[in-house]
Formats: sequence, C-alpha cells, structure tokens
Amino acid sequence: MSALRVLILGGAGEAAELARRLAGDDRFAPTLSLAGRTRAPILPPIPYRIGGFGGVDGLVRWLGAPRADLLVCATHPFADQMRRHAALAVRRTGIPLLMLERPAWVPVKGDEWIAVDDMTAAAEALGETPRRVLLTIGQKDLAPFAGAPHHHYVIRSIEPPAADSRPPNVELIAARGPFTEADERALLEARRTEVLVTKNSGGAATEAKLTAARTLGLPVIMVERPPPPDLDGLDVEIAADAGGALAWLEARHGSASRRRGV
Ligand code: NAP
Repeated sequence: MSALRVLILGGAGEAAELARRLAGDDRFAPTLSLAGRTRAPILPPIPYRIGGFGGVDGLVRWLGAPRADLLVCATHPFADQMRRHAALAVRRTGIPLLMLERPAWVPVKGDEWIAVDDMTAAAEALGETPRRVLLTIGQKDLAPFAGAPHHHYVIRSIEPPAADSRPPNVELIAARGPFTEADERALLEARRTEVLVTKNSGGAATEAKLTAARTLGLPVIMVERPPPPDLDGLDVEIAADAGGALAWLEARHGSASRRRGV
C-alpha cells in the first residue's frame, strides 16, 4: 500500500515530536506546516512548508492537490484561527482530522491564580498601582499592556516583540524553553517580580515558572484558552500528545491497509 499523506499543522512542541517520530516511517508521507512567525524555526527531519495557506480556501486547495489523506492539527492551544480553519477545511473536504489538545494547567494547593479570558482582562487585572510584571505571553498580544504603561514589564519571548507593539517601560528577554524551576526562580527574584502573566498553554516545557511563582508566593494572572472550534458532525478525534497522534495515524494506516487488502 502506498504511504498515507499526512499534513501536520505545526507550531506546538508536539508537532515537532510527531515529525521526529514519523521520520523514516515509510507507512506515512508527512509534511509539517509552520506559520513562519519565528525567524529561526527548528526545522523538522521530514518535508515541511512555511507560511500561511491563504485562509480556509487556501488550506482546502493544499489538501486537495495532491490530496492529503489525513490532517493533524498540532498548533499551539492559543492558535485558535488555524484550529478553526482546520475544522472548516475538513468540513468541506471530508478528510479525517486529529486535533492535538495538550491538557491545560490546573492550579494546585499554594497557587494564587487569577483566571481571565483574554489579554485585555489580564492587563486590567494588574490594577492601578504600579507593579513589576513578568509577561510570558509571546509577542503578538501586547497592545493591552501598552495601554497600562504605569507598570514595569519584563517580557520573555522567543523573539523580541516589535518596538511599536510593546509598552514603554520594558525589559526584553529572548529565550526558548524548556526552563528549569531554579532558573525561573532566579529570574523572578532577580527582576523583583510581583506578578506573572501567562497563557494557559499547558505542557511541561514552560510549567516551571508556575512552580517557581508558587514557591515565592507570587500571584499569577492566567489567561485561559480561547473556545475550541466547532467539531460537531466531523470525523475528528482528540489526542493529548504526540504518542496519541501517532497511535491515531497507525490505526488509520491499519484500517486503510485492511480496506485495500494489503
Ligand atoms: P493563528 O492566529 O491561529 O493563525 C493565524 C494565521 O497564521 C492562520 O490563519 C494561518 O494563515 C497562519 N498559520 C497559523 N499556523 C499555521 C501553520 N501551522 N501553518 C501554516 N500557516 C499557519 O496563529 P498564531 O496564534 O498567530 O500562531 C502562529 C503560529 O505560532 C502557529 O503555528 C502556532 O502554533 C504558533 N504558536 C502560537 C502561540 C500562541 O500563543 N498563539 C504560541 C506558540 C506558538 P492562513 O490563514 O494564511 O492560512
């Protein structure tokens, strides 16, 4: 049987891990798609493409020529537009979809979390009194904090945010996880941080900052995930990690082989 063509929408660490696991596996012909936001992305050991598709229509076109057999959406949990586009594209093409849903973080004893729905609410939750804030929210949603310039911000992101999008009173740290708890505690202490603002991305790679905040008794403003796309009536399954995604691909390969009597 010929290899199953798989499009993996990447961006999350799990997509990179799935790509590593699929490299050299002749049951599959995978392509990893990256948005192209970082200037020096970690390139996978499988074929890849970089850049947007041009909306749902563009994604549908890509899926059709040459036809992909399977779609894996392994974007970051906050990449809600791409997730919505994936759901809409499989609604139109009928291609089976696997959504990778990394479990969200949940507070444990000793955590002082303030849960908010979006970045505007996060900036408001900082309040009127000037505070020293560590922002680990990436580089694209900084506008609400630029609107609260009375705080002092330390922004840690993989790449520094554009000068026109960031608050005035800011220190920048360019770094890519994973981070250790000791490093996170050292960072919070060295910058005399009073509050941490983060997205509920889930996963182990960036969880240490939460443990460090708990140890230091610091509050965390936690931006909760955007609502999931409408998956009603679709041939879609959810996996929590790269291993689950691989198991889904293998099951699909097994049933395709049986159908074709291979
Ligand atoms: P988004 O808002 O969901 O998507 C915006 C547009 O970017 C999409 O409509 C699509 O353009 C393009 N795009 C997104 N992911 C793509 C992919 N894997 N391959 C090709 N095009 C893609 O996404 P975002 O929040 O800007 O994030 C961009 C990328 O960074 C994603 O791959 C995401 O997984 C990763 N990332 C995001 C975050 C976060 O917090 N948002 C954090 C870490 C990594 P077209 O409409 O032209 O197809």
